[in-house]
Amino acid sequence: MTVTAAPPTTFDSLDPATGSVVAAFPVDTSEDVAAAVERARPAADWWRDLGFDGRKKRLRAWRSIIASRLDEFAELIHRENGKPIFDAIGELSIAIEHLDWASGAAAKVLGRRRVGSGLLAMNQSASIEYLPYGVVGVIGPWNYPVHTPMGSISYALAAGNAVVFKPSEFTPAIGKWLVDTFAEVVPEQPVFQLVTGFGATGNALCTAGVGKLAFTGSTATGKKVMAACAPTLTPVVIECGGKDALIVAADADVGAAVDAAVWGGLSNAGQTCAGVERVYAVASVYDEFVAGVTRAAAKIRGGADASADYGPITMPSQVEIIRQHIDGAIADGGRAIVGGADSVHAPFVQPVVLVDVPEHSAAVQEETFGPTITIAKVRDEAEAIERANASRYGLGAAVFSANRGREIAEQLSCGCVSINSAISFAMVPELPFGGVRDSGFGRIHGADGLREFAWPRSVTSVRFPAPLKVTTFQHPKYARVLVTKMVRARWGRSR
Ligand code: NAD
Repeated sequence: MTVTAAPPTTFDSLDPATGSVVAAFPVDTSEDVAAAVERARPAADWWRDLGFDGRKKRLRAWRSIIASRLDEFAELIHRENGKPIFDAIGELSIAIEHLDWASGAAAKVLGRRRVGSGLLAMNQSASIEYLPYGVVGVIGPWNYPVHTPMGSISYALAAGNAVVFKPSEFTPAIGKWLVDTFAEVVPEQPVFQLVTGFGATGNALCTAGVGKLAFTGSTATGKKVMAACAPTLTPVVIECGGKDALIVAADADVGAAVDAAVWGGLSNAGQTCAGVERVYAVASVYDEFVAGVTRAAAKIRGGADASADYGPITMPSQVEIIRQHIDGAIADGGRAIVGGADSVHAPFVQPVVLVDVPEHSAAVQEETFGPTITIAKVRDEAEAIERANASRYGLGAAVFSANRGREIAEQLSCGCVSINSAISFAMVPELPFGGVRDSGFGRIHGADGLREFAWPRSVTSVRFPAPLKVTTFQHPKYARVLVTKMVRARWGRSR
C-alpha cells in the first residue's frame, strides 16, 4: 500500500539573504479562498455604498498609516524580499503617491457624467457611469511586493471594489502588513483580505467567482490565469514580464545614459519588470558609452550589508536562469566586460555587462531578471528601433537623445517610454502602466487603471417627445423618405 503524504498546510517565508524564517503562513485551499470571496461580497456592497468621498477618507487614512510607519514597513520589505532599506522606502513612496492619486481621482474619472446624445437621439439625455465589479482578485509577484500589487489594489479599492489579495509565496508577510493596516482604517467589514499559498491558491482565486482578476507575474503564469478565468468569462488584467531596451542616440548625453543604464539594469538586482536589460548604442557614441558603463557598473555591488547597492536574488530558482543567460551569451560569442560567469554566487549575483552578444541569444531574447545588461552597437537610430521592437515583450523602453527623443519614442512598440531617464513612467500616477504582446494587456495606474476596475453603464433618458420617432412600428409613412433625405444631406457629400 502506498501512503501519500498530505500536502503541507503551512509554509515559511524566508529572508532570501540568510534563509532564516520571517513567518509561517497557511496554504489556503480552494475552500478557504472561496470563503474569503463570499465574505467579501457583502463587504463590497458596503464599501461601494460609502461612495467616492467616504472611500477617499478611508484610503487617505490608510496612506497616512503607511507613510507614518515607513521605517517599520521598509525593514520588513528588506527582510522578506532582500532589497536594501533605501530601495524599500523608494518603492513605498511611489506606492503611496499612487494610492493618494487613485483615491482623489476616482470620483472625477468614474462618477456619472453627461455626454452628447447626437442627432438621432437629440430628444434624450445620455450619461455614463462606472460601477465596481464587486470582488476583485489580485495576484502579485515578489519583486516589488508593495508597488506592483498596489497598482491594482489601490485603484480597485478606489473604484469601489472589495479585494482578495494573494501575494507571492516569497512575500506573504508584506501582503499581510498591507491587509492588517487597511483593517485599522476599515475595521467594519473585510473589504481587503489576504489569502496565502502557492500557484494552486492563485488558481483557486481565479475560479472563486471574483468579478475581475488582476494578475502581475510571469507570462507563463499569466497564460494559466487567463485559461482558468476563461470558462466563467471572468475578465482579467495581465501585467507580465519585459525585456526593456534603452536606446542611446548619436546626440545623447552619454553620461546621463550611462547612469540610467546602470541604475535601470542593476538596481533591485535587475529584478524589475521594466528594468533595462538590453542597450542599443549608436556607433558614434558606442565606445564612450561602453567605457562609462564599465567604470560605473564595476563600482556597484550586491550584498546583504547596509552599504550594498542591491540585495540578493529573491527567488532561488532565478539564479540558474541568470547563470544560463550569461553562459549562453558567452558561448554564442559574447564578451563579458564587467563580471562574467563567476559573478553568480547564490543568493547574490554581481553586475555583469555583456557586449557582442548575438540577437538570438537568450540573454537578448528572454527576461533575465538579474543584474545583467547586454550592449549592442548599432549603425543608427533606425536600427536601434528595429532591434528594440524585435522582441516578444513590449513593456517599457528608454531613449537618450537631445533632440530626437520623442520621434524615437513614437516608433517604439511598447506600453511606456522614458525619454532621457529610465523607468520614470512608473512614478507618474496619471500615466497608465502596462505592456503589449507577451508583456500582457490592460492597464494599471492613471484614469485607465481606475476604469480597469469598473464597468461602464450607459443610460439614455427621454427629455421630450421625438419630432420623428423611428424606434417604433408606428412610424408615419413619410418617415422612410425623410430619414433617407436626412442621412444623405448630413453624410452623403464628401467634405
Ligand atoms: P510568477 O508568475 O511565478 O508568480 C506570480 C504570482 O502568480 C505568484 O503570486 C504565484 O503564486 C502566482 N501563481 C503561480 N501559479 C499560478 C497559477 N497557476 N494560477 C494563479 N496564480 C499563480 O511570477 P513572479 O516570479 O512572482 O514575478 C516575476 C515576474 O513578474 C517577472 O516576469 C516580472 O517581469 C513580472 N512582473 C511584471 C510587472 C508588471 O507590472 N508588468 C511587475 C512586476 C513583476
